[in-house]
Amino acid sequence: MPATSRYDAVVIGAGIAGSALAIALARGGLEVALVEARPLQRIDLPVELELGAFDQRVSALTPASVRLLEELGAWPLVEAYRHCAYRHMAVWDAEGTGRIEFDCAELQAPVLGHIVENRVVVDSLLAVLDASPAIRQLSTSRLQACERQADGDMLLSLDSGDQLRTSLLVGADGALSRVRELCAFSTREWDYGHAAIVATIQTERPHADTAWQRFLPSGPLAFLPLPGTRETHFSSIVWSLDSPLAEPLVGCSDADFCAELTRASEACLGQVLAVGPRASFPLRQRHARDYIQPGVALVGDAAHTIHPLAGQGINLGLADVAALAGEVRSAAARGLSPGQLEVLARYQRQRKGENLLMMGAMEGFKRLFEQQSLPLRWLRNAGMRGVGGVAPLKRQLMRHAMGIS
Ligand SMILES: Cc1cc2nc3c(=O)[nH]c(=O)nc-3n(C[C@H](O)[C@H](O)[C@H](O)COP(=O)(O)OP(=O)(O)OC[C@H]3O[C@@H](n4cnc5c(N)ncnc54)[C@H](O)[C@@H]3O)c2cc1C
Repeated sequence: MPATSRYDAVVIGAGIAGSALAIALARGGLEVALVEARPLQRIDLPVELELGAFDQRVSALTPASVRLLEELGAWPLVEAYRHCAYRHMAVWDAEGTGRIEFDCAELQAPVLGHIVENRVVVDSLLAVLDASPAIRQLSTSRLQACERQADGDMLLSLDSGDQLRTSLLVGADGALSRVRELCAFSTREWDYGHAAIVATIQTERPHADTAWQRFLPSGPLAFLPLPGTRETHFSSIVWSLDSPLAEPLVGCSDADFCAELTRASEACLGQVLAVGPRASFPLRQRHARDYIQPGVALVGDAAHTIHPLAGQGINLGLADVAALAGEVRSAAARGLSPGQLEVLARYQRQRKGENLLMMGAMEGFKRLFEQQSLPLRWLRNAGMRGVGGVAPLKRQLMRHAMGIS
């Protein structure tokens, strides 16, 4: 019979959301176990500024996400390595004259956000985890089963043979969450019919600290700025397009891909000169109908996955983390157990409406820009010009996208 250890909270999944949550809960005085299927080892991050040295996966972090990472002690490590602040954003319609530009000066803010390689955020959080004695890391371990006990605790079995008991089990185990499945959370999901190609590119012209996004009928194309030198200019791309169109673009030669990308981007940064390794991800929208049960909560992609067109996925996940950790900490101060349903219900109330709103907006954008009919094309172009011309509305949109409203 394996020995069973007890923790105030057990977090399954040490991606960005799970690692951040484990640290936030431990800061609130909880004993935490963090279970991760991969090895939890820090990596030697490459220092060269060259195509192959960047992580293909990057995130556009809002100021609200950066603030949370700062509070957790991870942001100084990201800053000490590398990131790229973006101060402007240009969004335009391939099928018309609609264009809207955002500038941080309009909000008297220093930046709109930061582009950061995902592995850098994960590695920085891992450095903080390593220095947190209240967190037990169980790496290369998968959650296999869980069972609710008569006293309300959850009993967890890992494939390593370890057994854990806890009053709060958190699923931070990504889009294909095992916690969600084992606890039978019901989910609404559908295929966007899109795949996203991600890669690092080198362009002829500098990105001018700007995130560029062009809406094509086949889907949105984003150029996200990366650090570079005076002579070499790098961006990360997220090119979402109808799935049958993505496959040939992943498989074609670098020269053909660069030529296609130059065309698709209307050469907004001049010629695309080179591209690093390409990867593509099928895009599905998923949303758990509830994020909570007695003793169980879902955060991040385990609760919701969203189209990457506004780069909001991990920002929503980090907002979940801040809300759940805040509720658990204030419950502890009132002598309540972290897994109590009333504590978790407060978390769900804070986050579900907000996440649904963002998911609905992304779905609406995607559908609107797919339309070829003339009245709809006119409407969206007029809409872009209209929003751009109404300063308070535009500022409200920017605040929302930056996670500060
Ligand atoms: C192409 C693309 C571009 C994107 N761009 C952006 C962007 O610009 N900005 C943004 O905010 N978001 C972006 N996103 C979304 C963002 O990447 C995700 O929202 C984010 O990575 C989810 O983080 P997470 O910690 O919730 O889950 P994950 O990163 O999926 O982490 C889950 C962890 O759980 C572990 N795990 C899984 N199952 C188990 C188990 N049974 N036991 C133990 N461990 C387990 C996994 O190994 C993994 O480490 C993008 C997504 C895509 C596909």
